[in-house]
Amino acid sequence: MSQNQQTASMSDNQSQPRYNRIVVKAGTTLLTGSTDRLDLEMMSSLVGQVARLQFAGRQMMIVSSGAVAVGRKILKGQQQGRDVPVRQVLAAVGQGRLLQAYEQLFDWHGIPVAQALLTRRDLSDRHGYLNIRNTLLGLLDAGVIPIINENDVVAVDELSGGEVFGDNDTLSAMVANIVDADLLVMLGEVEGLYTRDPHLDPDAKLIPKVERLNDEVGAMGGPSWSDMGRGGMATKLDAAKLATASGVDTVIAGGRTSNAIVRLADGETLGTHFPATTTRVESRKRWMLSHMDESDTIVVDQGAVRALVSHNRSLLPPGVVETLGEFRRGDIVSIVGPDREQIACGITNYDSQEIDKISQMRSTAINDTLGHHYGDEVVHRDNMVILS
Ligand code: GLU
Repeated sequence: MSQNQQTASMSDNQSQPRYNRIVVKAGTTLLTGSTDRLDLEMMSSLVGQVARLQFAGRQMMIVSSGAVAVGRKILKGQQQGRDVPVRQVLAAVGQGRLLQAYEQLFDWHGIPVAQALLTRRDLSDRHGYLNIRNTLLGLLDAGVIPIINENDVVAVDELSGGEVFGDNDTLSAMVANIVDADLLVMLGEVEGLYTRDPHLDPDAKLIPKVERLNDEVGAMGGPSWSDMGRGGMATKLDAAKLATASGVDTVIAGGRTSNAIVRLADGETLGTHFPATTTRVESRKRWMLSHMDESDTIVVDQGAVRALVSHNRSLLPPGVVETLGEFRRGDIVSIVGPDREQIACGITNYDSQEIDKISQMRSTAINDTLGHHYGDEVVHRDNMVILS
C-alpha cells in the first residue's frame, strides 16, 4: 500500500469507516497482566491481530511499554524504587527482551519487526520529525512492523518542569500524528472511559463516545487508575486530545476484549471512541503555517506550480528557480510561483545552498552534484500543503 493511501475509506459494506494506517498502543499492565513477567498469550493475540490486519493490506505499528517491567524481572528485584534513574536502568535491561518477544511472535507470521526508540524531544524537533517520519513510513512500505517505545535511557520529561518518566500514551499520540495515522488504539486493562473509576464504583458506566474532550470529561479520568504503567486514565485522555486535534480518530479499549484491534479497525464500536476534531490536512496546515518562517522561500516556475497545484506532485529540482533566505533540511519553507504568490508550504529535504546547486537539474544528478542524496524530491508531496 502506498504512503498516500492515508484517508479512512469506507469498508466493503460502505457503512463503516475502515482504517488503513493504525497505531496500537499496549500498556505495561496489559502486557504483563499485572504480574512481573510478559503475558505471552496476551502478546500473541495482539500480534496475531496486527498480523492479520497487515495481511489484509493495513499499515500497522505498535507502541509498546513493558521494558521497565521486564528489566525488573531480569534483575530479580535488585533495583528497587520508582525514581527516574532506577527506571532508566530497568528499561535499558528490559528493552532487548521485550523486542525479542515481539520478534519471535511476529516471526510465526513471517513478518519482520523494527525497533524504534524515540524521545518526545526528537518528535518535537523539526529535523528529527522529518527523519522519524521518513523512517517509519519507509518501514511500513517495506512491510515491517515498527515496535516503538520511548528511549527511556535518555528521555526525561522536561515539559512538566521536573524529572518525570515519560508516558507512552502521549508518545503514541505524537507518533500517530507524525505518520498521519487514521486511528490510534490505546489498549489497556480497562474497557474504556467510565463515568467513575470502575474499580471503586460498580455502578460506573462505560462512555461509548466522547465528541469533545472538555474539563468535565477530563475530570472522569481522575488522577490515575493504574499503578503499573506510567499512564493512568488521565494521561490517556490527554493523549486522546492531542491525537484527535491532529486529525486522528482515537479509541481507548480493553486489550483482553476478543479481537479488539481487528474489530476496531473495521469501525466497530468498542470501548470509548474519540472522533478526530479536525482533518489531518487541516491540522498539518496549521502546524506548518505556525512553524514556517516566511523568509525561507523556494521560488518555482510555472510548470512546477501546475504540477504541485493541479497534479498533486512533489517539487523536483527542475522546477526550482531560486531560493530566498537561508534554511536547513527539515525546515518548513514557503513555496512561491514566478509572481511570488505563495502556493504551498512544506518540509524541505535539502538546505538552501544545496537547492541552489541542484535547481534546474534532473533529480538523477543530485548525487553527483552534492555527493549525497536525500531523495529525488526537494519537497515531497507527503510533506507539503497546498495553500492556493
Ligand atoms: N517506556 C516505559 C516502558 O517501556 C513505559 C512507559 C509507560 O508505561 O507509559 O516500560
